[in-house]
Amino acid sequence: MTLYPRLAAAGLMLAAVLAGCSEPAQKAETSAPAPAPAVAANPDVHAFRIGQLEAVALKDGDIVMPNDGKASPWSNTEEVAALAGAVDAADGKIHLSVQPLLVRDGDRVVLIDTGAGGQMGTQNKLQASLRTAGVDPAQVTDILISHAHGDHVGGLMANGALAFPNAVIHVSIPEWTAMQAYAPQADMVRALTPRVRPFAPGAQVTPSIRAVSLDGHTPGHTGYEITSGDARLLYIGDALHSSIISVQRPDWTNVWDDDNAAAVATRQALLERGASRNLLIYGVHFPFPGLGRFQRRDDGFIWVPETPAQP
Ligand SMILES: [Zn+2]
Repeated sequence: MTLYPRLAAAGLMLAAVLAGCSEPAQKAETSAPAPAPAVAANPDVHAFRIGQLEAVALKDGDIVMPNDGKASPWSNTEEVAALAGAVDAADGKIHLSVQPLLVRDGDRVVLIDTGAGGQMGTQNKLQASLRTAGVDPAQVTDILISHAHGDHVGGLMANGALAFPNAVIHVSIPEWTAMQAYAPQADMVRALTPRVRPFAPGAQVTPSIRAVSLDGHTPGHTGYEITSGDARLLYIGDALHSSIISVQRPDWTNVWDDDNAAAVATRQALLERGASRNLLIYGVHFPFPGLGRFQRRDDGFIWVPETPAQP
């Protein structure tokens, strides 16, 4: 999973995270509640609103790993096993969901990350979930990539062709630079190049979505802040992988992060910011649909899922 050489700029990276904290003290989501978008009832799609924007969580699949320090990125297996809920009680394995996010931003149809495309033992459900949400892949106008790991870019290609033929692909400049230098992705990079529009860290990528640098996982790992009126949702990418392990023990390192010090600092800053400002969070690998908030508990944090009832 670690695709790139490590970067060593932890101090700068933490500063970059905190630079994203300039928003005024966050009210809880105070926009007048609007009905969730009309989407067929299906366990693999979850429609909701961010203010006036329509959004849909789209299940792609599940990554299921034995807690053995090999398939799992956490090498401290005994501590993981002792952390309540970290491994599934039924099978003794670590479960990470995969759910890209669809956002309708005006006339733009935006997809944030593209799932694994069937890699890593996942079920490759994204295209079906998207169609259940009433969207044909050709209708997607913009794809926003958090980072270039296979469970986020694997769905960009299908049968050797672009899976979303009309979409502009937005990726941060440092991530795109790293992708271009990474030989195993050369074929994909060649296919994507005409569609890629690299952006500077922190850029406003679409009218309602701003890039947020979340450093440490990959060279240009990026979260996305989606805003509509008073409502705000923060897509955190792989800054935190597990709603239990990463939230309750942000100090535990994992081999998927390029720069452990920066990744730990990013997790700590995100948890502090999320809890103190009551931010609505979207965890792409948290239990479906990945919506919830960080709350302080004792001297740490817990994940509190939020799943508004569908109409
Ligand atoms: Zn991931």
